[in-house]
Amino acid sequence: MSRLIRAVIDTQALRHNLNVIRARAGRSRVIAVVKANAYGHGLVSAALAIQDAGAFAVARLEEGMSLRAAGIDSRIVLLEGVFSRSQLEDAAQDRLDLVVHDAKQIELLEQCGGASRFALWIKIDTGMNRLGFSPRDFVGALKRIRMLESAPREIRLMTHLACADERDGAVTREQLVRFAEATQGLKFETSIVNSAGLFGGTVVGSNWVRPGLALYGASPFADATAADFGLRPVMTLLSTVLTVREIQPGERVGYGGAWTAARPSRIAIIAAGYGDGVPRSFETGTPVLIKKQRAPLVGRVSMDMIAVDVTGVAGVEVGTTATLWGEGLPVEEVARHAHTIPYELLCSISQRVPLEPR
Ligand SMILES: *Cc1c(COP(=O)(O)O)cnc(C)c1O
Repeated sequence: MSRLIRAVIDTQALRHNLNVIRARAGRSRVIAVVKANAYGHGLVSAALAIQDAGAFAVARLEEGMSLRAAGIDSRIVLLEGVFSRSQLEDAAQDRLDLVVHDAKQIELLEQCGGASRFALWIKIDTGMNRLGFSPRDFVGALKRIRMLESAPREIRLMTHLACADERDGAVTREQLVRFAEATQGLKFETSIVNSAGLFGGTVVGSNWVRPGLALYGASPFADATAADFGLRPVMTLLSTVLTVREIQPGERVGYGGAWTAARPSRIAIIAAGYGDGVPRSFETGTPVLIKKQRAPLVGRVSMDMIAVDVTGVAGVEVGTTATLWGEGLPVEEVARHAHTIPYELLCSISQRVPLEPR
């Protein structure tokens, strides 16, 4: 018997999704975003499976260093950049591209020298108000970067869209106008869109696209599934029925007795809890796929277990496999029941859940 709970990772689906993204991206090149342990899918193994992506992006220095240590030779963009001399030296050592989004980071480059070791992606804040130089400050930032004693190997310009998942693309269009104005006349390559920007309704031209979620076969949109775009789920979270019990009407299940049976019910106890990354915010009614049917979770998620009402499902017994999300049960659908987004579910898979190749 395999492990009670495991996340099965379908690297073929990952490669398939990369191809779908490539077709969508047209002439833009792809930066595969593999931050947060490749959205829970396993940083190194995911990156190795799509090495031909040509470029990767990570959020943290350590993630970039892990990719290099695994022998990945492609361009790696460090999305948050570096903040100290030792980080700068580590990044240089590992040939990481740096995002520069704050004046402190330019200062660091001025003080430490050796900027010629880097390709720099200057980030312009076009309305998200998270990272990046305002269009006005960007002018000065670019000037300082161009005056660095040792000129960076390359300069590229980027921004990030705040509302690309919204059907009404008004905010996105506004951001695009700001970006176009800020970069007017400059010949540098650019990067703008994430998954939602790539698959959304607004046409966005740039040299590089930065998809994350779509690679893993999930949709960033509330009103469209990944399948609508031809994307396939990469992670399927599977677990196992530990026991099945029959309960009478009026009996309650789990901590706090939070759910009460209204009829004679068969309850399957499944080995998946918040200790595995199944959030406690999963409500009664969250679907679990068992014997190819959706059955509702009932009561509270505990650390190691959930309870599922399988009254209507034939053949459920100790050892039966259940799908928490993935193939047959889109993670987007499940996320809605926890008032969260697929991103959070995927990257919250905990250490004790083994990732198994399909
Ligand atoms: C995470 C991230 C992405 C990828 O976003 P998805 O919505 O997963 O496609 C792209 N760009 C930046 C700057 C990011 O932080």
